[in-house]
Amino acid sequence: MGSLRVDEQWLEAFHGLLESSAYAVAFTGAGVSAESGIPTFRGNEGIWRKYPPALYGNLPGLALAFLFRKRRLARLASEVLTTLLDASPNPCHHALALLEREGPLRAVITQNVDDLHRAAGSIRVLELHGNAFRLRCSRCGLRMDVDRDKAREVREKLLKPDITRRGLLAALMEYAEACVSCGGRTRPDVVLFGESLPAETMNQAMEEASRCDLLLVLGTSSVVYPAAIIPRMALESGARLVEVNPQPSFVSARAHLRIPLPAGAFFASYLERFA
Ligand code: NAD
Repeated sequence: MGSLRVDEQWLEAFHGLLESSAYAVAFTGAGVSAESGIPTFRGNEGIWRKYPPALYGNLPGLALAFLFRKRRLARLASEVLTTLLDASPNPCHHALALLEREGPLRAVITQNVDDLHRAAGSIRVLELHGNAFRLRCSRCGLRMDVDRDKAREVREKLLKPDITRRGLLAALMEYAEACVSCGGRTRPDVVLFGESLPAETMNQAMEEASRCDLLLVLGTSSVVYPAAIIPRMALESGARLVEVNPQPSFVSARAHLRIPLPAGAFFASYLERFA
């Protein structure tokens, strides 16, 4: 990761923007976790190539899959769990945590559900699409963390090639255990296709976007709405914008600094040079 040559000018320019910022915010997408082993959804190895969102990305589709494609659903769930459980933070996640502790970074607004920003030590993380390691009670709304060891056990059960519908249901219910407060049914606290974003989190994110003087746009194509409104709001409020992404995106043309590199590799060099 760190072996990629990072132009000294980019490091200096990025550092200069941070030093002149009083209130910086990061806006992150799937790309920041690519070097942690979690493929982006739209990329070549993306999960939606194998499991089309129309069939598997929403609750009605998942219910139909449970009835008619149980092995495929079990494979999808075990693949997602394996990928997320095996991932650990990369230098981009670590650098953002450090910049919050010691620099001008006030919040990370993320579209990711992988929990890697918190794992790296970031404190103020606004998760626009939820968190796969959290459950939400459908009755009282309580949020509960998922025990990683239990998630591993569930994954093993899902991997059984002869899994029955009953076995699949038992495994899914073991993951989404009953609410500890009201006994209601829970579900993973992630936003599926067609569902609304958590309103309070989105409001806080928009406030941060309007308030910051520097927005770091890292590893996101900025095409998924309403999250993609964040860079636009920051620009309209006069913030400067830095993009780190090997591919150009919708915000590239308006970025004050564009660093066309993988985020993990860039921040590995940044930490080496400035931490
Ligand atoms: P996206 O539209 O934000 O696209 C990913 C972006 O990352 C692309 O612009 C790509 O060029 C860039 N990228 C790829 N590798 C990179 C790297 N090493 N460094 C920096 N940038 C890199 O996201 P998506 O993949 O289309 O996913 C859509 C939604 O699905 C997300 O908003 C999220 O909610 C969810 N998702 C989450 C995760 C996760 O939690 N890690 C992973 C995939 C998808």
